[in-house]
Amino acid sequence: MKIENFNFAGHKAIVRVDFNVPLDANGNVTDDTRIRGALPTLKKILSDGGALIMMSHMGKPKGKVKPELSLSQIVKNVSAALGVEVKFAKDAGNAEAEASSLKGGEALLLENLRYYAEEEGKPVGVEKGTPEYDAAKAEMKNRQKDFAKKLASYADVYVNDAFGTAHRKHASTAVIADYFDADHKMLGLLMEKEVKAIDNVLKNAEHPFTAIIGGSKVSSKLAVIKNLLDKVDNLIIGGGMGYTFIKAQGGKIGNSLHEDDLMPEALNVIKAAKEKGVNLSLSVATVAGDKFSNDANRQTVDIYNIPDGWEGMDASEQSVENWKKIIMSSKTILWNGPVGVFEFENFSRGTGDIAKAVAEATQKNGAYSLVGGGDSVAAVNKFGLADKVSYVSTGGGAMLEAIEGKILPGVAAIE
Ligand code: AMP
Repeated sequence: MKIENFNFAGHKAIVRVDFNVPLDANGNVTDDTRIRGALPTLKKILSDGGALIMMSHMGKPKGKVKPELSLSQIVKNVSAALGVEVKFAKDAGNAEAEASSLKGGEALLLENLRYYAEEEGKPVGVEKGTPEYDAAKAEMKNRQKDFAKKLASYADVYVNDAFGTAHRKHASTAVIADYFDADHKMLGLLMEKEVKAIDNVLKNAEHPFTAIIGGSKVSSKLAVIKNLLDKVDNLIIGGGMGYTFIKAQGGKIGNSLHEDDLMPEALNVIKAAKEKGVNLSLSVATVAGDKFSNDANRQTVDIYNIPDGWEGMDASEQSVENWKKIIMSSKTILWNGPVGVFEFENFSRGTGDIAKAVAEATQKNGAYSLVGGGDSVAAVNKFGLADKVSYVSTGGGAMLEAIEGKILPGVAAIE
């Protein structure tokens, strides 16, 4: 079912949201982006006249009740955002009474789902690889089903709007969907937008399609790079991960970040790009520092010849110029990961210039641009360009798994 086509009047909806918001030491919300992200879905349900039950995790209590991770701390924020006095159920696994008395237009928030180990469904207190593990895992899977069934019993419609956990097969994100028929389960509006943004680049990209992959490690993005090689025209590899590619080709990289064990994979990527006709563009020169610090001495050096005692920390002007030309000629752009240590002001120019180029290609050339994955999102925000790109994804891990080509369990359970 599509949420746009469903009238919630007379229905009780249980909605998986991502309210895993950061709190300060006094339990005050320091960034309510995630709460605001869920509002379109939540407000639709209430304005249709439906009864709204919200459920989420917060942090990693690993099956234990941890008061500092209680969702009771955010009730006032959710109430203010929704404009409705939100009720609270202290025990997510025993909320029948609160759920059944809920009327149309009213809202209820369940306590942190991960107070129950059943939510994640991982056996607790048994080591992987021990003889007891398999039996414990099977038992936990059954308990997970029971927990999901219990959550499902509170409502007659299930909505998943938690993109941040869509790559997890948890009780509330996937297993619960088994207890609703196709007409009574749906993606929320935020999830729909995220899925569409990913489809826009992975399935319906207009060419030339350019991916900019930066960040620290090849190991964490290798699957992403491999999947993209079959889709993109241009692949820009920058940031810390670039030095593994340079060293693998015989370059001298000084103290730059690299992963020796991934050098063969880096060479495979270079070879595969050639075979597939993908234009792979690495940095040509780097702004190197003599220590990993904002106040390091700086010099711009040939990336294949970084002096001993120095490490590459930002893309040079020439590298960014080359990349800018590619970006400005693209119709689809995917950006994940900074091209330098952008947290240090003195080494942030390259990443800032990439953010500007992506924004310019979007605004001036009508390119479709998707920015996603933790640090590149922080970067577009830092440079005030979030509303100048086509879409900024809210889910780091989920977005990465999607661009690896994996099916997200949270989406598959509904579709
Ligand atoms: P990731 O989470 O893999 O996207 O990596 C993001 C991190 O990579 C950021 O914290 C950057 O500071 C870091 N990074 C980017 N370029 C470099 C570099 N040349 N050397 C060290 N760290 C880098």
